[in-house]
Amino acid sequence: MNPAAPVYACVEGGGTKFVVGVARSPEAVLETARFPTTTPGETLGAVISWLVDAAARHGPLAAAGIGSFGPIELDPGSPQWGHVLNTPKPAWQGADVCGPLSAALKVPVGLDTDVNAAAIAEHRWGAAQAQRVAAYITVGTGIGGGMIVGGAPVQGLTHPEIGHFPVRRHPRDSFPGVCAVHGDCIEGLAAGPAIIARWGASLSDLPPDHPGPELVAWYLGQLAVTLQAALEPGRIVFGGGVLNTPGLLEGIRRNAAAIGAGYFRGRADQVIVPPGLGGRAGLLGALALAMAAAGR
Ligand code: ZN
Repeated sequence: MNPAAPVYACVEGGGTKFVVGVARSPEAVLETARFPTTTPGETLGAVISWLVDAAARHGPLAAAGIGSFGPIELDPGSPQWGHVLNTPKPAWQGADVCGPLSAALKVPVGLDTDVNAAAIAEHRWGAAQAQRVAAYITVGTGIGGGMIVGGAPVQGLTHPEIGHFPVRRHPRDSFPGVCAVHGDCIEGLAAGPAIIARWGASLSDLPPDHPGPELVAWYLGQLAVTLQAALEPGRIVFGGGVLNTPGLLEGIRRNAAAIGAGYFRGRADQVIVPPGLGGRAGLLGALALAMAAAGR
């Protein structure tokens, strides 16, 4: 560790918890803490006071990076920059995630979505290094994804919402889906809440030979093939709690290979990979955003 390297504040703002840390580099994460996502005042207040204390212990902060749950406004030209948009969490509707941090810490703040941040980290330090195009997908309480093209996250009118694309129905699947907006988009059919609603248990708790994991793998295989068709990524990194199910990643590879039918340049067994950074992709993504905000 280089003790002269600047100290950065890293905030991974998730829908159920905020993970906060201070780091000099990916190898030198000095300290971390986590706080439940309750209300903006309470959660951001706890994050800020922890960071103020951490800065007193480790040295002044050079910048802060936030990878936030969304949808969140990322257009730096918008007066709503850094504000949560239309979220199912009423307390966070319109909440300013960045303003309180920059006001309290008085450092530059870099912002992106939680999944874009993880995609940036996997591309810079993890399983997607040196790839011209890469994607990071998380499957947990929702399905989210960030796509990196030419080193930067894809940003259109707003950040992509790959978890809400319409999928082809499995012929034996009559489940209506749980997405509040679309019903049976892929998040509505294959994320954690859909799994619980279908089978009353998480995927990893189902008995052996239960058809659940194969059905979820079939839907996630479609997601991988959709990304291949649109972008031909060199790596599609699959993370999130649902991916802790033994054999699921292999199932996604097998289904993607079958659905893709050999058409794409990327081979499913090489392209579809677990996170190189394990569970640290989100926090290290926030570190990358902080470094960028500091011009590094
Ligand atoms: Zn949806």
